[in-house]
Amino acid sequence: MSITLVTGSYIFAGLCFILALAGLSKHETAKRGNIFGMVGMGFALVFTILGTVLATTGATPTTGGPNWAIAAILIAMVIGAGVGVTMAVRVEMTGMPQLIALLHSFVGLTAVLVGWNAYFEPMATDSAGLHRGELFVGVFIGAVTFTGSIIAYLKLSAKMKSKPLMLPHHNAINLGAVVVIIGLTVWFVIDPHLWQLIVMTAVSLALGVHLVTSIGGGDMPVVVSMLNSYSGWAAAAAGFTLNNDLLIITGALVGSSGAYLSYIMCKAMNRSFISVIAGGFGSDGQVTGEEKDYGEHHETTAPEVAAMLKSAGSVIITPGYGMAVAQAQAAVADLTAKLRATGVTVRFGIHPVAGRLPGHMNVLLAEAKVPYDIVLEMDEINDDFPNTDVVLVIGANDTVNPAAQDDPTSPIAGMPVLEVWKAGTVVVFKRSMNTGYAGVQNPLFFKDNTLMLFGDAKERVEDIIKAL
Ligand code: NDP
Repeated sequence: MSITLVTGSYIFAGLCFILALAGLSKHETAKRGNIFGMVGMGFALVFTILGTVLATTGATPTTGGPNWAIAAILIAMVIGAGVGVTMAVRVEMTGMPQLIALLHSFVGLTAVLVGWNAYFEPMATDSAGLHRGELFVGVFIGAVTFTGSIIAYLKLSAKMKSKPLMLPHHNAINLGAVVVIIGLTVWFVIDPHLWQLIVMTAVSLALGVHLVTSIGGGDMPVVVSMLNSYSGWAAAAAGFTLNNDLLIITGALVGSSGAYLSYIMCKAMNRSFISVIAGGFGSDGQVTGEEKDYGEHHETTAPEVAAMLKSAGSVIITPGYGMAVAQAQAAVADLTAKLRATGVTVRFGIHPVAGRLPGHMNVLLAEAKVPYDIVLEMDEINDDFPNTDVVLVIGANDTVNPAAQDDPTSPIAGMPVLEVWKAGTVVVFKRSMNTGYAGVQNPLFFKDNTLMLFGDAKERVEDIIKAL
C-alpha cells in the first residue's frame, strides 16, 4: 500500500462524486447517482484511514502511533454511524429538511474544530501566514454554517417562527461583522493571537444566526441550498487546513453545486441571489402581510368532488407540503390512474419550492409510480390553467397564493406561483383555514370558483376514489 494508491483512490472517489451529481440531476438516473455517491464515499473513508496509517507509521510514542490513529478513527466512526443510522431510521420523510439542515450544522462545527485544532498545531514557518489565512477562513465559513444551519433547523421544524426578524440597521450589522472579520483575518495572518481567533469565531457565530433569522419563510428554500453550499466550502477549507485533497475536491463540488442550486432557486422565485445570501440585504423590512378580510369560503364534500371529476375533461393536480404530511401520494396516484382510465386528462403542476426540499414532490410522486411524462414544472403548465376544468390543490398553500402577484406588501410578493385560480373550479384539500409555511393568508380560498375540502388529504382522496 503506497501514498500513490491513496491518491489514486482519491481521484476515483472524486470521479464517483461527479457521476453522483450528474445522476442526481434526473429522476431516471437518481438511483444510479446515489450508488456512485455511496461507492465514492466508501472508497474515501477506507483510503483516508489507510492514508492516516501510512502518514503516522514511524511516529514517535509522544505523537501517538498508527494504532492510536486507527483506534481513534474507528471509535469516531462507530459513534457517528450509530447516531446516523438511528436518525435515518427514525426520521419521517417530512422531517428530512430539518435533518439535512442539522447535518449541515455538523459540517460547519467540524470546520470550526479543525481550524481551532490547527491553531494549536505547530505551523511550517515558510507558509505559516498562508496557513493561518486558510485556518481563519475555514473557521469563519464553518461558524456561519454552524449557527445558520441550527436556525434553519429550528425554522424548518417549526420550533422557531418563520417570520423574518428585521433588527434596526440589520444591513449595517451584517456589513460591520464582515468588516471586523476581514480586519481580524489580515491582522491574524501578520501577527497571530488567540484572542483574534476567539473574537472572529464569536462574530461569525452571531453572523450566522443573524443572516438566517432575517430570512422570511418563503425564502427558506434558497437558504437551505445556500447553507448546503456553505457546508461544502467549509469542508473544502477544512481540507486545506488538513492538507487532504479529497476533502478539498468534495467540498468544492458540494459548494459549487449548492451555489448553483441557490442561483436556480432564486431565479425560479424571482429573488435577488445577492440579497438572499446576504441575509435579506437591501430589503427595507417593510413587508407586512397583515391579516385582511377576504370574505366567506365555500366548502364541498368528497362525493361532490367525485361527481365533478367524472364530468371533467381535464384535471391538474398541484401537490404541496400537506401531501407529504398526509402521505397521500399513493392515494393520489390511484386517483390519477382511475381518472385516466375513464379518459380524463390528468397532469401534475409542480412548483419549484413545493414541500420542504428541492424536488420533494417529484420524489413522492416517483415513489408512488406516477408516470414522469404527466408531471410538469410550473413554467410548463402555468399557461394551461385557463383551459382546465378542475384543479385539485392537495396540501399546497403558499405555492398557489395569488397574493404573491396581487399584494406588494405580502412577504411572498414577487414569488411566481401556480395560477390555479384561472381554472374552471379549484378544490383545495387541507385540514383548516390555517396559513402555509410563510404565515400569510391565502385569498385563493375565498374566490367564487374555489371549494374547500377539509380533512386529512389522504383520507379525502380515498373517499373520492370510493365515490368514483
Ligand atoms: P405550505 O407549507 O405553504 O402549506 C402546506 C399546507 O398543507 C398547509 O396550509 C396545511 O394546511 C396543509 N396540510 C398540512 N397537513 C395536511 C394534511 N395532513 N392533509 C391536508 N392538508 C395538510 O405548502 P407549499 O408546498 O404550497 O409551500 C411550500 C412552502 O415551504 C413555501 O413557502 C416554501 O418557500 C417553503 N419551503 C420550501 C422548501 C423547499 O425546498 N421546497 C424549503 C423550506 C421552506 P392545514 O394545516 O390547514 O391542513
